[in-house]
Amino acid sequence: MRKIVIAIDGYSSCGKSTTAKAVAAELGYAYIDTGAMYRAVTLYLLERDIAFDDLPRIEQALHDIHIAFKRNRKTGRNELCLDGVIREDEIRQMRISNSVSEVSVIPAVRHTLVRQQQRMGRKRGVVMDGRDIGTTVFPDAEVKVFMTADVLTRAQRRQQELALKNEHFELEEIAENLRKRDYIDSTRTESPLRRAPDAVLLDTTHMVIDEQVDFVLERVSASLFSLAALGNDQNGSEAVV
Ligand code: C5P
Repeated sequence: MRKIVIAIDGYSSCGKSTTAKAVAAELGYAYIDTGAMYRAVTLYLLERDIAFDDLPRIEQALHDIHIAFKRNRKTGRNELCLDGVIREDEIRQMRISNSVSEVSVIPAVRHTLVRQQQRMGRKRGVVMDGRDIGTTVFPDAEVKVFMTADVLTRAQRRQQELALKNEHFELEEIAENLRKRDYIDSTRTESPLRRAPDAVLLDTTHMVIDEQVDFVLERVSASLFSLAALGNDQNGSEAVV
């Protein structure tokens, strides 16, 4: 069967990764968490005390850094690997969330990561989540979903996720981090967070994960159906319903 690209963009903590992961598993597609890549660059710069306005050192860092995803055989999860070491837990910490949006405005960082993401998805058969997948990384993605949700609902979900990792924060502190990231992400000049004109809007405020996954899978079926119909048309035969 033909393989497509599924782009899931949207605001922070709307359930993009959980949905994208489940959709990828259902379809047997690869899942790429592009936010993890921006988080990895942030961790790398912080660990080396590289200031976010020190462009020559950032460019050198982008040349040296090696970012990849490795499948954990025990959990089946794709984990972020920075210079050969799994750093999945560190990149999710609040100190990284507090700085990542400042790093992701840097054009050199975006150019490097966007190019890598395009290489990762060049064979298609991929579900990618982020902020600019449907607009910049894969503007030709066959399915584009733009996710949003009420900020307090998002903060509650994030608070629970962090608590599971023994990181405890007040709801308002988390909500403030989400608002700040949404603001920086949407107002930067280089590939800002924006709904692509052909992306379907999904508000997850009152939805559970299964509903979100079903919503995306329905879009995928519709897209595959119309691609097959188009293929049949082009071959001069009729589409089979
Ligand atoms: O998805 P996640 O919340 O982990 O992303 C962390 C940050 O990485 C975002 O707030 C945003 O600043 C940046 N990001 C981005 N473009 C993407 C994915 C993430 O700028 N495609």
